[in-house]
Parts: sequence; structure tokens; C-alpha cells
Amino acid sequence: MPKGNSNLIEFSNRTVLSCAMSPAPLQLGTLYLVATPIGNLEDITLRAIRTLRECSVIAAEDTRRARLLLKAHNIDRPLLSCHKFSEARRTGQFLDRLENGETLALVSDAGTPVISDPGERIVRAALESGYRVESVPGPCALTAALPASGLPAAEFHFVGFLPHKSGARIRKLEALDAVPGTLCFYESPHRIIKLLNELASIWPESEVVLARELTKKFEEFLRGRPVELLEHYSERKPKGEYVVMVHRPT
Ligand code: SAM
Repeated sequence: MPKGNSNLIEFSNRTVLSCAMSPAPLQLGTLYLVATPIGNLEDITLRAIRTLRECSVIAAEDTRRARLLLKAHNIDRPLLSCHKFSEARRTGQFLDRLENGETLALVSDAGTPVISDPGERIVRAALESGYRVESVPGPCALTAALPASGLPAAEFHFVGFLPHKSGARIRKLEALDAVPGTLCFYESPHRIIKLLNELASIWPESEVVLARELTKKFEEFLRGRPVELLEHYSERKPKGEYVVMVHRPT
């Protein structure tokens, strides 16, 4: 029986009770953004597993990859593919499903949907059409990397992937010169050397941390000035997935 005479108190009492005793059921007509592991399959929350188990349908960037995750957690729900080339086409279908009262879970290949991954278009369309969008938070390479980097984390700027073409990369990096805080990039192993060379020319005195293969068997953090890291890679080839963080002296 709710106590108190304001709706807010009633609502918060109910929320607290439902969390303590049995989790609230999924809300009909809601889009859930479900974060999934970035390597270690144990890195998934109880709520993410329950959302994936109870939703009407799961929209996945790569259905084959999603199937492995579902199998590991004994989840059996229908899958629809939703990658960067099909997101525009799929958005209307997803809105129809929300309109029919379905609960839709969106997962990317790894980590948090929308963060350098598909989903932004669907989120915007769902919100503009008045549907509820909920985050089911969990792994993200950025938030796994930055706290363990040792670099200042009070203020940071997430860049994501730089453009591929050299001119556009340099222009982007130069524009970032005015941006305060630790800069955080996602980068493919094929372009790590290129990025270190660019950092060596623009911010030679910066402290750089390369967070590689986070949560996986060969996880490592490499720290140094850009030239020191280039030296490290003069004898070996960059391999795996990287988050690159850059602290520039003021
Ligand atoms: N949505 C994901 C997230 O929440 O982090 C990011 C997806 S983005 C397509 C993939 C990039 O994230 C990789 O190229 C790499 O830069 C970074 N990344 C993903 N998993 C990683 C890991 N285990 N270790 C280091 N970086 C990772």
C-alpha cells in the first residue's frame, strides 16, 4: 500500500519495493538499448540478461554474433538484423512493432549500442514518435579504458573513430587542439602507427595510453610519449582492439 500523499513518493515507494522483491516487468512499446560484453562473456548485467530474455524481439548488428551471446546465456528470442546499412530501412518496421506494444531490445556487436555503433537513428525516431527509450547500461570500451589509464578522467572528450583519409584526420586532430580534457579515440590496429605518428607531430609531449584487448586474455595498457610507443611498435605489429587516450600538457 503506497504511503505519503504525493505521487512522487508513491512512485518512488513502488519502485524501491519492486526492485527489492521482484524486478519490474518490461514496459510495452519500449526500446531497450542493451549493453553486451566487449570481450569477457561474464561482463553482462542481470538486467541485460532478463531484458534479452523477456523482450519480444532482439535487433542485432550481427545476428550470428548475437546468437553466440544468447546461447551462452540460454536465451531464446527472435533476432532481426540491424546494421549500419539496414538501420534506415529497418527503422519503420521497428516503430510498427513498438506501436503494436512490443518490447524491442537493441544490441550491437559489442559494448553499448549507439557508441560508435548503429542505433542513433532508431533512438531518435522512437523518441520523436513518442515511444519510451531505456538504457540497460553495461560494458563500453571507453568507460573500461579511461578509469584504468591513469590519465585525468574528470574531463574528457570522446572522439570515437577518426576519418580514414590523412588530410581529414589532421584537420580533425588540429581542431581538437582547443578542446580541453583527455582525448579518447577508438582506432583499428591497422591505423595505430599512423595515429601515433600524427600524435608525435601534433602533440609530441603528450602522455598516451593504448588500452588493448580490454577484458580479454591479452589485455594490456601501454603508456608513453608518442615516440616511445612508436619505438615499441618498431619491433612488433599492433594487434587487437584499441582505445587510445591522450593527455596533452597545458
Ligand atoms: N559500442 C562499442 C563500445 O561500447 O565500446 C564500440 C564499438 S566500435 C565499432 C569498436 C571499437 O571499440 C574498436 O575498434 C575499439 O576501438 C573499441 N573496442 C571495442 N572493444 C574493445 C576492447 N575489448 N578493447 C579495446 N578496445 C575495444
